[in-house]
Amino acid sequence: MGCCYFSMKAKFKILAVLCIFILSPLFADRMVSVCLFWNRSVDSVMVSAMSAPLKLKNSIMQSGDTVVLRSGEVVNIESDDYYAISDGRIWRMVSGKCYGRVGKNLYLKIPLRKWIMLTLMGEFPENYPLEALKAGAVVLRSFVLSGKHHNECDVCDRTHCALLPRPQQIPEKYEQAVERTKELVLVYNDTIIPSPLTANCGGRTIPASILWGGSAEWSTAVVDSYCEPYRWEFPATRSQLESISKLPPEQWQIKHKYYDTISWADIGTRISGFAFWTMLVDKFGWGTLCSPTFEMVIRGDSVYFDGVGFGHRVGLCQNGARNMAKKGFTFDEILKYYFPKTKLKKLGGD
Ligand SMILES: [Zn+2]
Ligand SMILES: [Zn+2]
Repeated sequence: MGCCYFSMKAKFKILAVLCIFILSPLFADRMVSVCLFWNRSVDSVMVSAMSAPLKLKNSIMQSGDTVVLRSGEVVNIESDDYYAISDGRIWRMVSGKCYGRVGKNLYLKIPLRKWIMLTLMGEFPENYPLEALKAGAVVLRSFVLSGKHHNECDVCDRTHCALLPRPQQIPEKYEQAVERTKELVLVYNDTIIPSPLTANCGGRTIPASILWGGSAEWSTAVVDSYCEPYRWEFPATRSQLESISKLPPEQWQIKHKYYDTISWADIGTRISGFAFWTMLVDKFGWGTLCSPTFEMVIRGDSVYFDGVGFGHRVGLCQNGARNMAKKGFTFDEILKYYFPKTKLKKLGGD
């Protein structure tokens, strides 16, 4: 049995290497590792094999099965699945997503090209014009190739990095957007930039350094004449805010700096504007305080947050990019508009 298992293991290694080889003509050899925060508590992955039985946890898994994660999530096997086993860790792929187990966290490894398609799908609606999707593909490729965004892996699967949808059929439009911008990245001083995207910049993007600190010379503010600025309001109560800080909300100091974006807040301790926004979003949920640009107004027991923009407001404005594409601008013109200091460059090119 043990002998059979090891020969199977060897077969899977060969299969995995072959798959990686087939998938890697130009740049897909780069695998992106993603932290699956939405399944952070998962500590076991059950796997069923596709082309041959895979022995796992003393039972042989048959092809045609489903993958059941300890969290209860069931993933159906699809035809392009493959598996790799190394260092006692199990990796499996479903439609380009590879589930694996490292310590207590669940990770996946995914070819770069597939990651761009899936995140493009997660971040951009299909009814966006192709040129806007192409601009998005370049932004996502640059972001992930600019360096690791988390200690344990390249990116997470949430809006913090880029939203990764569950494995599913990828509409042709997303494939086209990725194929037609193949190998293109945004560079500043010959370095790939961690280009962000934001759903709606509120009429003006803000430089990355204002929000996240650091120099971020590639990033600049852009007055966006193409987007329809999104305004939002979120009501809360004094008691909800009291759970955040011992200091009463009317004594909080909020310092607005650049185009009304919060520079810092003192809620008993002084924190950055971004940390303040993140703290409130953690408290109230994503989509409540839509951007880091807001005023806080206290009336009696009620507290109102009144803001502009959707997302962090740095980089490519998706709403503006869509409208530019509708007006006939090409993806490279869109990118030049939102990242005026950068250049488009082909990976491995001149
Ligand atoms: Zn992240
Ligand atoms: Zn905009």
